[in-house]
Amino acid sequence: MAIRIIVKEPDPVLRETAKEVTKFNSNLQKLMKDMAETMYDADGVGLAAPQIGISKRVIVVDVGDETGLISMVNPVIAEKEGEQVGPEGCLSIPNLNGDVKRYERIVVNGQDGEGNHFTVEASGFLAVAFQHEIDHLNGILFTDIAQNVYDITARQRKGGE
Ligand code: ZN
Repeated sequence: MAIRIIVKEPDPVLRETAKEVTKFNSNLQKLMKDMAETMYDADGVGLAAPQIGISKRVIVVDVGDETGLISMVNPVIAEKEGEQVGPEGCLSIPNLNGDVKRYERIVVNGQDGEGNHFTVEASGFLAVAFQHEIDHLNGILFTDIAQNVYDITARQRKGGE
């Protein structure tokens, strides 16, 4: 396993539509492990492959609840309902947070590293993390859809004084 370098906005790879994965092999499985390791190293709750410069439809999510790590290939939101608004940040946009409107509950279909299909039902913050990461696969950043965006480095400076 290896920690990969997280690319930052405005890297163009973050704006590409990531390609569907068709080969389920050891390279993919290594990528998924590296993504999880990179996410944990950065104290993130999710990471999409484009964020390490790889334009493929792979995400990892771990919001720190009892669900644990979910690594998913070719994720597709199959059901969605309700809405919630909450603050989000992004490892590729280190200095900004913003309030984003998301579905409250979603059902996501995808595949594991071997190509087996599985489904995740997510609500609350886990649902937010999935929606945020799937947006990355479509070249969408939270700053594109946030109701407001604020500089957290300024806040931290203020708070630290
Ligand atoms: Zn992000």
